[in-house]
Amino acid sequence: MKQREFNLDKFAHFSEWYNTVIYAAELADVRYNVKGFVVNRPWSSMAFKKIYALFEKELEEDGHLPVIFPSVIPEENFEKEKEHVEGFAPEVLWVTKAGKEELKRPLALRPTSETAFYQMYQLWISSFKDLPYKLYQSCSVYRNESETNPFLRGVEFLWIETHNVYATSEEAWEQTRKDGEIMRKVAFESMGIEFLQFQRPKWDTFAGAEATFAYDCLLPDGKALQFGSTHYLGQHFTKAFEVSFLDAEGKRQVPYSTCFGPGIWRMMAAVAAVHGDSKGLIFPFDVAPIQVVIVPIMKGKEDGKDILAYANSVAEALKEAGIKVRIDDSDKNPGFKYNYWELKGVPLRAEVGAREEKEKTVTLVRRTTREKTTVKAAELVQKIKEQAAVLLKELQERSSKWLLDRIREGGDKEGVLRILEEKGIAKAFFCSLEMEGKKCADELKEYTKGGKVRGKRVGEESQGNGCCIMCGKTSSQQAYIARQY
Ligand SMILES: [Zn+2]
Repeated sequence: MKQREFNLDKFAHFSEWYNTVIYAAELADVRYNVKGFVVNRPWSSMAFKKIYALFEKELEEDGHLPVIFPSVIPEENFEKEKEHVEGFAPEVLWVTKAGKEELKRPLALRPTSETAFYQMYQLWISSFKDLPYKLYQSCSVYRNESETNPFLRGVEFLWIETHNVYATSEEAWEQTRKDGEIMRKVAFESMGIEFLQFQRPKWDTFAGAEATFAYDCLLPDGKALQFGSTHYLGQHFTKAFEVSFLDAEGKRQVPYSTCFGPGIWRMMAAVAAVHGDSKGLIFPFDVAPIQVVIVPIMKGKEDGKDILAYANSVAEALKEAGIKVRIDDSDKNPGFKYNYWELKGVPLRAEVGAREEKEKTVTLVRRTTREKTTVKAAELVQKIKEQAAVLLKELQERSSKWLLDRIREGGDKEGVLRILEEKGIAKAFFCSLEMEGKKCADELKEYTKGGKVRGKRVGEESQGNGCCIMCGKTSSQQAYIARQY
């Protein structure tokens, strides 16, 4: 691959920036010969493993166990929950043949797995002692989509799904709050991506859910990206699948349930789009495929050997400390290597030249600001951890500023439109987030060319009264509005 310097302004040309960086940094390839399906290349796959690991750790600490379900679901399972089947029917891909034989009952490739899990929960749950019952699955799911884009929308995409069952509705609601905390820990505290948590309007809840909570970040083109959601399912699926338990008094009860779906693919889109800059990607340290790249700087042949030996000893020390490191000892010049690894988003570069070799130091360069720090080799591991923390803080501050500064009061519908045109998120009075507000939401979407009511921000109370920006009805309800992916 020829390496020209990548230089594109993501704010001015987001779509071009995104597609170029995804391809040039070797994250994904769209040339696979089935439309809508994408090959996740090693550079993204290495990061995916780390993103999965962050969520899996948090979920297991919260009492979830891993499980691996079949990827097919029989048609009769789907039909058990009416709203669910109606909501997903247009997107389901079906397996209808085995060899030359037509299957007697078609099998769905899972678009989500409630109807697989509850089939088994009916067999596994029988007593209050079995509850809460909390499982998660790291897998891909399939949804037929006409417009696809790597990590943003695909026919097959990566996620985690949790499916949890509780004796009481209070515990189920409590889980929806905990899911938000887990998302905060992973997306913001480890990956530096700021986001807002919303309760979606009634007309935008998950098919078969009573309430949907969603996590939205904001991409450089001013469109919101939902990278996960949590659903309070009440007794919809437990009733449909006849899941019940005997309580402490021996009475048969129907349990309550929730599910949580961190969109692993979309987290990658967020890492690329929110953190990236005109030089390419910037990975936060915790999910970087390679955390430190060592670039030996050799001028003459003689000192070259010593420098390389020194670089290797530095790499060994980092490996021992559990840091993902690579030496770029290719015959390219240092400038070429800097550009290449900056495009790939490696968070820290370690430069090792004659001076460093002689003084037993390393010059660390942070991907965010390219600030250089020369540190003693003996203190390197500690200093790398410090620099990783500084880099994370910079990413957090940048992404918080980007998102929070873009929230503005809309006032009226013209004001909302203006905010969306300026890549913002509008906050405005809206008549209702129950079904009766849908008509106003549809008109708003048309008027603003795609502005959608994201819902009520979790943890924020509406203040005062105003008039619905569409119908003018007096309301105390404030809603957030943004264009979206
Ligand atoms: Zn209205």
